[in-house]
Amino acid sequence: MKCPFLQEDRVRFCEISPVRKIIPRASIHEADQRCSSADYVNCPVAEGHLEGRAQQKQCPFLCESLVQHCTAEEQTKFVPSTDSRQSRCNSDAHRYCHSYLQRAKPTRGPGSADAAGGGVDPFESGDISVPGQLLFARNHMWLDEGADGSCNVGVDAFLARVLGEVQQVSFVSDTGSQRPSVSLTVGGVDLSLAFPVRINISGTNAFLRCHPEALTADPYGRGWLFEGTDPDANSGNGGTRAVDELLDAESARLWMLAETERMTRVVHDLHAGNAYSKENLMADGGVFCHNLAQHLDREELLRIFNLFFAPFGD
Ligand code: SF4
Repeated sequence: MKCPFLQEDRVRFCEISPVRKIIPRASIHEADQRCSSADYVNCPVAEGHLEGRAQQKQCPFLCESLVQHCTAEEQTKFVPSTDSRQSRCNSDAHRYCHSYLQRAKPTRGPGSADAAGGGVDPFESGDISVPGQLLFARNHMWLDEGADGSCNVGVDAFLARVLGEVQQVSFVSDTGSQRPSVSLTVGGVDLSLAFPVRINISGTNAFLRCHPEALTADPYGRGWLFEGTDPDANSGNGGTRAVDELLDAESARLWMLAETERMTRVVHDLHAGNAYSKENLMADGGVFCHNLAQHLDREELLRIFNLFFAPFGD
C-alpha cells in the first residue's frame, strides 16, 4: 500500500535548460507561457537550438512527464524515480517515514490501532503497550511486516520502560541479509541488542543518531531501528518462515504480563533487605519503575540486560 501523502502530477520541464525547472501542470497558465506558445522563438535558452526547425505552436524542447511528490512536507518535494525513498513511499514501509508519522500521527500504543494495525486491539499494562499489528521477539524487539513483505524492527515498550534514557544508538548491522544488531549506551554502559531473525536490511533509522532519546520515548514510531524486507516473504518454501517463531499480539499480551512480574521479582531480589533502594526501583502498584536502568550499577544493569534482552532471551 502506498503512502496516502504520495501524489502523482503531470509536470513540464525544459529539455535543454542548464537549470532544470519543474513546473506542475496545474500551475501553468497556458496562454501566458512562452514555452507553450509560438513566442518560444524569443527564448534565450532555445536560441541557437532552433536553426533548421520549422516554427511550431509550442517549443519543441518543452517536455512533459509524470512525477510523484510528497504532500506531507511543507515544501513540495518531487520524488524522482531514481530516488531510493520512492520504494518507501510506494510500499507499506511508508508507515515509518518521519514525515508520515508527523502528519498522520498513527497511534500504535494504547487507545487505538494504526491504520495498518490489522484490527487487533492494542493492549496496555501500565504504560507497557502491545500494538496489535506487531510480532514480538522474546528479547523485547518487535517486527512490523507489511502485506508487501516490507518490514521494520524496533524495541518494545517494556524495554523502553526499563532503559529510560538512551545516550547513544550505534548501528552494528548495516545493509544486507543479517540479524539486525545495535549497541545502546545507557548510563555509560554499552548494551548489545540483536533481533533474532534475519531480514534483508535496506536501511537504519538515521534520526536516532541525533535523537537517541526517541528510541525509548516513541518505541513504536519514530524510535524504529531497521527497515528492510522479509527474505522468506516470497520464498515459497512450504509456508515455514523464521518470523513465524515470533509472538503475535495475543500471545505477547500474556507474555508481557509474565515479563512484568518476572522483572518485579528480579528487582525485589536485587535489593532484598535494602528498603531505600527498593523504593526507588518500584512504581506505584509494586511494578518496577520507569528508567530502572538509571538506578542500577553497571553489574546489575548487565545482569538484567542479559536476563531479559539477550538475543534469545526467555
Ligand atoms: S516522503 Fe514519507 S510522507 Fe512523503 S510520500 Fe513518501 S512516505 Fe509518504
